[in-house]
Amino acid sequence: WVRVPTRPRYSACLRKRGYGGAPRFGGGGGGSRGGPPQGKFGNPGERLRKKHWNMDELPKFEKNFYQEHPDVTRRPPQEVENYLRSKEVTVKGRDCPKPMMKFHEANFPNYVMDVIAKQGWAEPTPIQAQGWPLALSGKDMVGIAQTGSGKTLAYLLPAIVHIQHQPFLEHGDGPICLVLAPTRELAQQVQQVAAEYGRASRLKSVCVYGGAPKGPQIRDLERGVEICIATPGRLIDFLEAGKTNLRRCTYLVLDEADRMLDMGFEPQIRKIVDQIRPDRQTLMWSATWPKEVRQLAEDFLKQYVQINVGALQLSANHNILQIVDVCNDGEKDDKLLRLLEEIMSEKENKTIIFTETKRRCDELTRRMRRDGWPAMGIHGDKSQQERDWVLNEFKYGKAPILIATDVASRGLDVEDVKFVINYDYPNSSEDYIHRIGRTARSQKTGTAYTFFTPNNMKQASDLIAVLREANQAINPKLLQMAEARGGNSYGGETGTRLWLHLQT
Ligand code: AMP
Repeated sequence: WVRVPTRPRYSACLRKRGYGGAPRFGGGGGGSRGGPPQGKFGNPGERLRKKHWNMDELPKFEKNFYQEHPDVTRRPPQEVENYLRSKEVTVKGRDCPKPMMKFHEANFPNYVMDVIAKQGWAEPTPIQAQGWPLALSGKDMVGIAQTGSGKTLAYLLPAIVHIQHQPFLEHGDGPICLVLAPTRELAQQVQQVAAEYGRASRLKSVCVYGGAPKGPQIRDLERGVEICIATPGRLIDFLEAGKTNLRRCTYLVLDEADRMLDMGFEPQIRKIVDQIRPDRQTLMWSATWPKEVRQLAEDFLKQYVQINVGALQLSANHNILQIVDVCNDGEKDDKLLRLLEEIMSEKENKTIIFTETKRRCDELTRRMRRDGWPAMGIHGDKSQQERDWVLNEFKYGKAPILIATDVASRGLDVEDVKFVINYDYPNSSEDYIHRIGRTARSQKTGTAYTFFTPNNMKQASDLIAVLREANQAINPKLLQMAEARGGNSYGGETGTRLWLHLQT
């Protein structure tokens, strides 16, 4: 196992700007840049001018391709209502089409249906069922759904239909569909899906992200791609350098908008969106609905319909068994060892261990490897090459233990992760939910172990709210902690706050 040297200069640069304490920012969306790429990189997008659109001069384009399938038309309203209620789908906004409960009702082209058929899935996920007709009808939409809910296909398949109805790309044209994503990992995953479903129709896609050589990305862009999946920083670079343009872009997706805002990408997103014609179709996805995300929706979307999937509060995937071990910091190593001995004797044993800091991630990886554990580490200071390599080793089971900071908690989609261990409790219950959501992907089950120490006491009642919502047994010591802090043990502040966000 040869370690590729890490690149501390990025973290140093981030620390100077006050991002050092938050490892999840490191190496994030702008690739090597992490959060807002300013300072030594200059003011991103400085040379991009806001476009003033004369709508009469712009070529017309179609965005409504939806024809309700007869099976959907025939379905009694009561059945539709029962479906939406049982799947916890709520819709806000006018003229939302009925959900489609079966794949054939979407009328996707045969080559798309063939790929779906190969997956052996039973039916569309709720976000697909309600998202597809909405997206196909050309409306702007917001989808509030957990990661792992099937949202990638919810926006990519309508994107394929949208593109097929547009004139062919000509020399010098930029992409028709742009997907903005917070991290390189998420962007790459989305592109894999785009490539898989676009292959038969010869739709080309490119993934544009920082921390990797620009040449190949530029070559792909210049060759002409219908779909571009990008993290904001690198895309701005290319737009400024005239390597691509958004004149043909009529289908815009903002994936994990809340995460992009968390990472400080708002100015970049605004610069990019300014380059896209205003009558485009815009689809925004988010796991939460705080006021900053709402503001973005108000600014970028027109008369949009909003779909919420899941209980109207922050909730964890119910297929995960959540076990919380209340202990002291000094006990963690011993407990981890015993836990791993048990886990590694299982047949399916792929495990992610989350730490709070990059340093702890490195230390733990070093110690575990010294003791012979098949473990590898990933965090924001690692080079892109090393991160890709580590993820592959993990994905294909060569190293079944991945030690990670929050960089890996969102977007990481390895199907057969069976265990998540929170060696350190994260900063918020939202992060907790995203971390444990790395297991139990697509209807599978998984187990999350969490070490919770007195230092995490102020998060006790939030965690209890998440556990209660998911009908999990609650460790009495955790209840005692919440009570000792004077909070109630019936629902955390975050749960309530998010619930309010979604209500309003
Ligand atoms: P996403 O939320 O897009 O990250 O998707 C999470 C996982 O769900 C991915 O591994 C998809 O392959 C899988 N998936 C997508 N659509 C379906 C479906 N209709 N039924 C079962 N699994 C699905």
